[in-house]
Amino acid sequence: MKTASCLDHMAPYLFAQIDAKRDALKAQGVDVISLGIGDPDLPTPAHIVDAMAEAIRKPENHQYPDYAGSPAFRTAAALWMQNRFGVELDPKTEVLALIGSKEGIAHLHTAFVDPGDYVLAPSIGYPVYSGGATLMSANTYFMPMREENGFLAEFADVPAEVLSKAKIMFLGYPNNPTGACATEEYFDAAIDFCIEHDILLAHDNAYCDICFDGYAAPSILERPRARECCIEFFSLSKSYNMTGWRIAFACGNATAVGALGTVKNNLDSGQFTAVQDAGIAALTGDQRCIADLCALYQRRRDLVVDALHAIGVECTAPKATIYVWAKVPQGETSASFATKLLEQAHVIVTPGSGYGPDGEGFVRISLTTPDDRLLEAVRRIKEAM
Ligand SMILES: *Cc1c(COP(=O)(O)O)cnc(C)c1O
Repeated sequence: MKTASCLDHMAPYLFAQIDAKRDALKAQGVDVISLGIGDPDLPTPAHIVDAMAEAIRKPENHQYPDYAGSPAFRTAAALWMQNRFGVELDPKTEVLALIGSKEGIAHLHTAFVDPGDYVLAPSIGYPVYSGGATLMSANTYFMPMREENGFLAEFADVPAEVLSKAKIMFLGYPNNPTGACATEEYFDAAIDFCIEHDILLAHDNAYCDICFDGYAAPSILERPRARECCIEFFSLSKSYNMTGWRIAFACGNATAVGALGTVKNNLDSGQFTAVQDAGIAALTGDQRCIADLCALYQRRRDLVVDALHAIGVECTAPKATIYVWAKVPQGETSASFATKLLEQAHVIVTPGSGYGPDGEGFVRISLTTPDDRLLEAVRRIKEAM
């Protein structure tokens, strides 16, 4: 049986080797601590679970959902964008419910990319940006990201032959995995660039709520000309510990939102309306749960950063996200250092090289592990070094 050739071109799963080693250790009964996965360890707040319990009993929720999202969910999303960022959106044409941001990001390629086209993706980033291009038999141009430029993806030097076929530029700040945050000037420059070259700017805002030290991440849609070229993805996954629920929304440029909606109309039938009702409870309910979550992650961040500094590992305390992006010691690669930590400390971190070409030389440490396990992991890493 011959599968589609685009599947042959999917990047190999870079964490497979580490996964295999982890499984082997676990099979020997070794207690392995994973700081590898970006999946919140705390449960979804009770008021959201309660809303779901109520919604699931409503017979009208048992039928096919509205494909673009229920009017109530889209209105709640628009209201949230207004309250949180001062961004006004028409819920009918500028907001689309998603079955998680990953779904929307992956399908955006179907709406905008033809075979042979280019997608501009950060050279350290969420693998779906380039994976979605590969699935469309399109190409990815990786925009360089350098520490000295604050890990802001550099688009000024994209070659003309790439630009002429470029359809989407993906950005995501606060950034997974580097923890970098964008400035207003950077967003404005990216918007100008995308308008000039007729490129859709897709901004992944999954971490805008997970901020520390008084920082509040913006929406790219706050910027003056954003509505001309931007679509933004907001996910409830990280803000409300809802990764398993699969609920998010896309918003912004009406043409882009509409095109993504057309693709989805033909592929899925929308998210379960009861899950959307739970999403409304999250977006419109008490937001103190987010402040509590940020305080927790900030404490864990400090714990990890202090411990890494104490053993001479270079890293900067991120202003946002659930990750610490740390430099591997001299003489190590991302993979060799991750392997060493696994074999000698029984701690899993993810090699930066798995996030793209400029990720080499770094590892990502996730803060989504209970405090006692995080402390134990840090203790073991100290011992191993
Ligand atoms: C976690 C995450 C998301 C959220 O994805 P969902 O599909 O909504 O769970 C999106 N983008 C990035 C970069 C992430 O790390």
